[in-house]
Amino acid sequence: MVVNDQNKFQAIISHAKEYGFVFQSSEIYDGLSAVYDYGPWGSELKKNIREAWWNAMTRMHDNIVGIDAAIFMHPTTWKASGHVDNFSDPMIDNKDSKKRYRVDHLIEGVADALSKEGKTTEAEKLIADMEALLAANDYAGLKQLIDDNKMKCSVSGTCNWTDVRQFNLMFSTQLGSVAEDASEIYLRPETAQGIFVNFLNVQKTARMKIPFGIAQVGKAFRNEIVARQFIFRMREFEQMEMQFFIRPGTQQEWYAYWKAERMKWHESMGIPATSYRFHDHVKLAHYADAAVDIEFAFPFGWKEVEGIHSRTDFDLKSHQQYSGKKLQYFDTEINQNYVPYVIETSIGLDRMFLLTMCHAYQEEKWTKEDGSEDSRVVLKIPAKIAPIKLAVLPLLKKEGLPDIAKEIMATCRTEFYCFYEEKDTIGKRYRRMDALGTPFCITIDHQTKEDQTVTIRYRDTMTQERIPIQGLVAFIKSKL
Ligand code: ATP
Repeated sequence: MVVNDQNKFQAIISHAKEYGFVFQSSEIYDGLSAVYDYGPWGSELKKNIREAWWNAMTRMHDNIVGIDAAIFMHPTTWKASGHVDNFSDPMIDNKDSKKRYRVDHLIEGVADALSKEGKTTEAEKLIADMEALLAANDYAGLKQLIDDNKMKCSVSGTCNWTDVRQFNLMFSTQLGSVAEDASEIYLRPETAQGIFVNFLNVQKTARMKIPFGIAQVGKAFRNEIVARQFIFRMREFEQMEMQFFIRPGTQQEWYAYWKAERMKWHESMGIPATSYRFHDHVKLAHYADAAVDIEFAFPFGWKEVEGIHSRTDFDLKSHQQYSGKKLQYFDTEINQNYVPYVIETSIGLDRMFLLTMCHAYQEEKWTKEDGSEDSRVVLKIPAKIAPIKLAVLPLLKKEGLPDIAKEIMATCRTEFYCFYEEKDTIGKRYRRMDALGTPFCITIDHQTKEDQTVTIRYRDTMTQERIPIQGLVAFIKSKL
């Protein structure tokens, strides 16, 4: 896998738009920065990834159940979770351009440029210095590092910087219609807190015994300052989180378990382990006693797609303190009451979507038998999450072929997502299906009328064979 391939990344972004996967939000008004909409095939792919995660977590684990909590929560939630006081990033402004940077992004950008010039030792030292200063919350030191390395603003080109300051990432709004009575509430910056505040509700009603988990998928909102890299960093995005409640003292063992389990899930999505790596956190969040990122080799570098955090009993204890309600569990095996510890797995659905697109997107060129060149763009999305599973294509728009095709559509569409198309030459239709990532196309031709067989064409190999209509549904299902 090529890391740092900006051309490929630009091609993926254009492809995502051209083929109805992802659009800029409110594009007719020139768009809204770092906010995106999913189109017909994007929303289908996103739904399939969400379902794959949800099923792997809930259906495949006896001891994990799901919830769907509201986006709005009591404002004290965010005081207890630490987000009001701690959910901020160190920022720096260029005084000339007024452009604001996340300090770590500014420094990482300079380190990337150094690596590209072959100065890897300098780049590594810069990152190590930055990580040490971030870990020590040493903002004066970070400013010094920026000054010493004469880092420049990409807009003004100057080194005229403000001090490093904290900036809270939560969006707030007013609950209530009359200004005086209204209270400030937040759009949740993570879905995890909806799980913590429901810990007892779920444990009691679903009769869960520790160890057990609660999973949730939903929107989260962060006022990200530097919104770059397409849907990698958005202001409105979707998280898939699971909090696993355990007996205190067992966190190391469960942390290792979930690290391995989550990596297995990534591999089950058809992506090889070599495209992933673990990256241990140097600076731990205020709630964690261990944390690791699963990183993927995106075309713009190794980046986090999922976090696994050992959150101790920080959240439940804090909610207990702020709410005055006991959030404890009576463990009948050891006859003890305690506040459970938590291992969290947290993955961004949009990032997993981008990862899938980056892995799937391929430009292929080959020489045909007659010596001429041919090429195609294909999305090799694993069949089980592909937006369209089967394209049903009558060779001609006449001679009864569309009728047979429509009959096949009627049988297959109740089983998986099918797409019918009769316009254009068959070659063009195949190419379009390649670009949408459709793993199987069937063509209905004159032979079909005689022997009830169709030609099936495989996306990845472009090979074709004839199969009977009779066993078509079972055949496709066996490949999903
Ligand atoms: P980053 O360092 O990239 O800002 P984070 O460490 O703040 O991410 P977490 O708070 O651990 O991220 O969130 C868990 C997951 O949610 C991330 O691994 C990522 O997949 C996703 N995520 C976080 N912020 C965003 C965002 N702004 N846009 C899209 N996905 C996001």
